[in-house]
Amino acid sequence: MSHYDLIVLGTGGVGSAALYHAARRGLRCLGLDRFPPAHDRGSSHGESRLIRLSYFEHSNYVPMLKRSYALWEQLAPSLLHRSGVFYFGPAGGQIVEGVRNSASEHQLDVQVVPENALPQFCAPAGFAALYEADAGWLPVERCVLTHLEQAVAAGAEHRWGESVVDWQATASGVVVTTEGDSYSADSLVVAGGAWSARLLQTLELPLTVQRKHLHWFRCDDSRYQNGFFFDLPHGQFYGFPVMDGRLKVAEHSGGEVVSDPMNASRAPDTLDSERIEAFVRDHLPGVVGERLNHQTCFYTRSPDDHFIVDRYPGSSNVAFAAGLSGHGFKFAPVLGEILVDLATGQAPAVDCAFLGLSRFQRP
Ligand SMILES: Cc1cc2nc3c(=O)[nH]c(=O)nc-3n(C[C@H](O)[C@H](O)[C@H](O)COP(=O)(O)OP(=O)(O)OC[C@H]3O[C@@H](n4cnc5c(N)ncnc54)[C@H](O)[C@@H]3O)c2cc1C
Repeated sequence: MSHYDLIVLGTGGVGSAALYHAARRGLRCLGLDRFPPAHDRGSSHGESRLIRLSYFEHSNYVPMLKRSYALWEQLAPSLLHRSGVFYFGPAGGQIVEGVRNSASEHQLDVQVVPENALPQFCAPAGFAALYEADAGWLPVERCVLTHLEQAVAAGAEHRWGESVVDWQATASGVVVTTEGDSYSADSLVVAGGAWSARLLQTLELPLTVQRKHLHWFRCDDSRYQNGFFFDLPHGQFYGFPVMDGRLKVAEHSGGEVVSDPMNASRAPDTLDSERIEAFVRDHLPGVVGERLNHQTCFYTRSPDDHFIVDRYPGSSNVAFAAGLSGHGFKFAPVLGEILVDLATGQAPAVDCAFLGLSRFQRP
């Protein structure tokens, strides 16, 4: 059986970054995945992901985000597109209030946008609009591929097309069993995305997997040069700068719960399509073209929509990230770094204690 310093189980968004950090530290490491690099069966595909610093989800994430920005730049400066992002919502609502809180707590540059300054957007009367110039987007597949390519260049082994069926802690480390082989290691990182509950079965993680939809509309209006996030009474919607005559839009709220991500339908959903079309019609007056493309993807949600990042109870050489709740990709490099720290017995350089497992463990 081949032996490694560290094995990464799942080399999607987070696992590819963990493999990169392990390899860069000179660890003899192996990444295992059932699907090919940058595949479209999990949660890290669909062309783009927003990255934001003034974090409305919770200001505790901001130090991790600052580290993530630095690590994306270090990986390849061309990956991080600082297009700026507009936030629209009612004063006191989750997004506007959350952005303001994070910005004031961490001295971030967020501007108030005067009413009627953005004719390409149509926000309900009385909505506040904020602008964060440092926010932007990441080309999701290229990010995964870059992490994997640079991991392999630094000495990592990457085996895909191999499903992991089991892993076990042993007296001296871990043994990971795939459909065709077994591998041993001193440490293990588990980054299984929508399959996390199954890979971490004994923890009984309270995770819910939701099928989400991405839509691309034809758009010839060059005023859409920024990302945007709308906090509407009936849901949260977001989108990306127009590129090659296409504008990508999706709904952050809602989503159909699926029990088996492997066999979930990848077809458009009528209700979701109607909601997206209504959002585009009512709030993006410059987007008049037809829908060009559609993809599905998975959110893996924890009960409080915050990540679960920790060492495996009873196995301090096993670390995992799960329940990224539809906002984890921008954190991939810092999560990769944290997971390698945790699995190899080091203290993470950035505080992530607020994401610990204990908040969901029964006394
Ligand atoms: C529609 C959509 C929009 C999003 N928008 C944003 C955004 O704008 N900004 C943002 O920051 N985040 C966003 N997210 C969230 C973000 O994309 C995810 O949190 C992140 O990509 C999850 O990465 P992951 O590594 O956990 O999962 P994945 O990338 O899916 O990786 C998990 C990997 O584990 C492998 N695996 C699982 N089980 C096994 C097994 N038994 N054997 C072998 N391999 C296995 C899978 O094949 C997969 O490759 C969005 C997500 C979706 C779906």
